[in-house]
Formats: sequence, structure tokens, C-alpha cells
Amino acid sequence: MSAAHQNAAHQNAAHQNAAHQNAAHQNAAHQNAVAREILKISDLHVSVSGKEIIRGVSLTVRAGEKHAIMGPNGSGKSTLANALMGHPSYVVTAGQVELMGEDITPLAPDERARKGLFLAFQYPVTVPGVTVAGFLRMAVKSRLPKGAPETDHPELRNFRKTLGEGFSLLQMDRSFATRYLNEGFSGGEKKRLEILQMAVLKPKMAVLDETDSGLDIDALRVVSAGVNTVCGPDTGALVVTHYQRLLDYIKPDFIHVLMHGRIVKSGGPEMAHELEKTGYDPLEREFGSAPS
Ligand code: ADP
Ligand code: MG
Repeated sequence: MSAAHQNAAHQNAAHQNAAHQNAAHQNAAHQNAVAREILKISDLHVSVSGKEIIRGVSLTVRAGEKHAIMGPNGSGKSTLANALMGHPSYVVTAGQVELMGEDITPLAPDERARKGLFLAFQYPVTVPGVTVAGFLRMAVKSRLPKGAPETDHPELRNFRKTLGEGFSLLQMDRSFATRYLNEGFSGGEKKRLEILQMAVLKPKMAVLDETDSGLDIDALRVVSAGVNTVCGPDTGALVVTHYQRLLDYIKPDFIHVLMHGRIVKSGGPEMAHELEKTGYDPLEREFGSAPS
């Protein structure tokens, strides 16, 4: 059996388990036996500067599921995350990405955002002159259909309230609202701001790239609580992390190991602890020299 088929088998088995686990809340929500697909990545190939980095990734995130992508540095995790968001430097050469059944592969990042996709960056940018509140309001506004007066949109009418709730959720001081975006923020504050954005935008599908790096334990708890609050039975999450630590707080339903641009192993949450013990070396020996 090929690695790809094994992955498919793993994923099917895993999804069956998830279907069991999710049965309770699905019944409560009167949903179908199989939760609908929020994000579907099919045989995705992505090149950066003419070099193929993602070499055939397939992955489905259903409603209510949290998936983690782990893997060594340089394996392509951020490339995958950026490609999902439609970053222009990351060129999809084959395959497709569907969001709630719609092919979003040709769409620009803002169109993807408007359809409910969110990416928390590994390295958030600093924008002097743009306040946190101003930026978040702009982000909310940019997702609304164009043309209608602002007062017609509850998202904008309730913005201050939503922002206040976000600050409470992330235990951030409200004085952050008037500070410039990420300017002088500590690593932990930048990450909190990413999750605050997520809390305000309420995406259908959240992709978090190494949201744990640079966080102390307290910040990690707060950020994880934020993620867990925002991710509900109708949303999906894809959490990219190099370490298992974050996964103690954001309990994923599935874990996938990315190596040299391919998912070489998928499994349940217990895999995080296996990987913590063994490291990536055994997988590297098995899959490391895959031809490109
Ligand atoms: P990870 O997030 O798993 O550490 P990345 O996706 O950042 O991995 O990087 C995967 C590979 O792609 C690396 O070899 C990296 O050098 C290359 N890469 C990523 N972004 C760029 C870029 N903008 N230009 C050139 N190479 C890149
Ligand atoms: Mg990365």
C-alpha cells in the first residue's frame, strides 16, 4: 500500500472515530450523521520561487473538528498555511482548496477572508499609524458586501461590544485598542492579537501558524482558551505547530505530520505524545529521501 493510500486509510478511520465523538453534538444540532466539510484540500502542490515545496497534500476538515499539522522546521507548514490563504508568492501548481464546498483556489486573500477563512500568521507584521481597533474594524468592514450603508450592518454596529468581548476573552488590556498594530508588542502580545482578530472576525475556518511559538505558559493558556472558544460545532480549525505543548490545550481530533511537503502520517491526538518521545527521526528515515 502506498503512503498516500495509507494516509487516506488513516484519515478515513480517524474520521469515523470523529463521527462517533461528534455524534452527541450533531444530534443536538439536528445535523447529518457525517459533519459537512469546511475545508477540503485535494492533492495540493505549491511552489515558491519556482521550487515545489508542497508536493501533494490532501486533507479534509469537517465541522467541529480541530486538526493539527506538525513537522520539522522547513517541512512546508507555513507554505501550506500561506497557500491556503492565497498569498501571491505561493503558487498553486496543481490540486485545489475548497471552502464549504466552493473551490477557492483562484480567489484572492480578501475574497477568501470574506468567505470565512482566517489565517493567524507565524510572524505578524507591525503597522505603525494603524491602531488595533482601527485595523480590526477595517477587517470586519472589508468582509461585508460592498455598497450598503454601515448602519445596516450589525457587525459594524456591534463592533465595540465584540471588541470588548475579545479583549476580555484574551485577557488583554483595553488600552491595546488605541495602540499601533504590533508596534512594541511582545511575542505573546502579538499572538494574542492574532487570536483577538479571530475572535472578532469569527471565521468558519481558522488556520493558525505556530501560534504557540514565543508564548509563555500563561499566554499559551489564554491563547488556547481563545481558540477553543472561537472554534465551535460549525467551524473548523487547522493548527500548525512544531511542538506538542500547544496540543495539550487545544485538543486536536487529528494530527498530521508534514515532511518534505507531504503528509507522511496521520492519526489521533495520542500521536502528539508519541512524536514528543520519538521525535521526527524515525519518520525522517522512512520518508526523508522521497524523490521530488
Ligand atoms: P515550516 O513552516 O514547516 O518551517 P516553511 O513552509 O516556512 O516551513 O518552508 C518550507 C521550505 O520552503 C523551506 O525550504 C523554505 O526555505 C522554503 N520557502 C518558504 N518560503 C519561501 C520564500 N518566500 N522564498 C523562498 N523559499 C521559501
Ligand atoms: Mg513555519
